Amino acid sequence: KLKSEVASIQSLKEAYNNIDASKVNSFKDFPLSQKTLKGLKECGYVKPTEIQQQSIGLSLWGLDILGAAKTGSGKTLAFLIPVLEALYCKQWTRLDGIGALIITPTRELAYQIFETLRKVGYYHDMSAGLIIGGKDLHFEKKRMDKCNILICTPGRLLQHMDENPLFDCSNMQILVLDEADRCLDLGFEATMNNIIENLPPERQTLLFSATQTKSVRDLARLSLKDPMYVSVHEHA
Ligand code: ADP
Ligand code: MG
Repeated sequence: KLKSEVASIQSLKEAYNNIDASKVNSFKDFPLSQKTLKGLKECGYVKPTEIQQQSIGLSLWGLDILGAAKTGSGKTLAFLIPVLEALYCKQWTRLDGIGALIITPTRELAYQIFETLRKVGYYHDMSAGLIIGGKDLHFEKKRMDKCNILICTPGRLLQHMDENPLFDCSNMQILVLDEADRCLDLGFEATMNNIIENLPPERQTLLFSATQTKSVRDLARLSLKDPMYVSVHEHA
């Protein structure tokens, strides 16, 4: 079984070279793992939205992304699919620790992302956790080291980084900054800068935002390396 998994990962990676976003009509047109495709299908996701179509191939290639698309355009799957695929292709296991960190401005958004990840990532072997204010910090502290994908609000994440000796993201591969403009609007600019300075520089970063303000560009400059700009405008 292991051998065939290695072979299918190898063929997925080879197919990355042939991704042509303009020819993608369904998620099956992307070289995605069977586990992800099955999860998407069972959730009823068939056709990528425009931001998903434009950005997923670039994210699979491992590039940093600065993505702009309005609320409701499907940014969640635009980052969850590449996160799942990256860790799957690295054959991440529960023992490998935190592989991906997703930062989002509010608890409600964190819950929504967690729920989507639970469903779409159902067939993967990775574990996911929520690090949000208002939950028992001790409970979070004990469980943290067993999580592979952490979904966090900025304040609570920084608190863990500062106070929790079990918090170890030295192995982290992918950072997602979701709704970056709202994080900054809520006054998390210093917190975000602090978090980013605490993360391993060898990583992929996906930054999504509904608007591109100056402070978003500042955050992008601090967190992204040679990013690809993906901006999706509304059609009339
Ligand atoms: P955003 O983060 O850009 O505001 P979301 O990721 O929350 O948008 O998605 C908005 C809604 O669109 C959600 O209800 C989600 O389930 C739905 N959605 C996302 N991608 C697709 C898709 N490819 N096909 C159908 N519905 C989708
Ligand atoms: Mg969103």
